[in-house]
Amino acid sequence: METHYQILGVSPDAPTNIIKQRFQQLIIQHHPDKKGASSPMSNENDAHRILQAWNVLRDSEKRQKYDIQLEVESHKTKITINSDVDLDDMEYAESEGSYSLVCRCSGTYVITEDDLELGNDVICCDNCSLRIRVLYDVIEDDDDS
Ligand SMILES: [Zn+2]
Repeated sequence: METHYQILGVSPDAPTNIIKQRFQQLIIQHHPDKKGASSPMSNENDAHRILQAWNVLRDSEKRQKYDIQLEVESHKTKITINSDVDLDDMEYAESEGSYSLVCRCSGTYVITEDDLELGNDVICCDNCSLRIRVLYDVIEDDDDS
């Protein structure tokens, strides 16, 4: 999966005016109506992806959110998970809306209901560098059985 930066061929810290220049060059190159295009279909797809990337990166707020998302994604692959823990095995604190578990270092793992809603299932001990993945059932609206 290419990032919006890769699609536009710019570095993740490129300023908006550089990204804009690059976008304008690319969109001309990939325009589906461009004469002599060898494959109109793929050009159409490319143009769509370029537009999508530009729509996020042009907007500082959207770009910021996208950057955070990218960072989370990249950490997901780098993080070593020490063990999987079932949510049912964690202690629920109703007042906090959070689940906790004591680490073997006597530190604590805490995951909040907000984390669960956001799909953040990997948590770090507050005392050492160990991480656990919390296993829980995602409640789906549709039943495709
Ligand atoms: Zn620990």
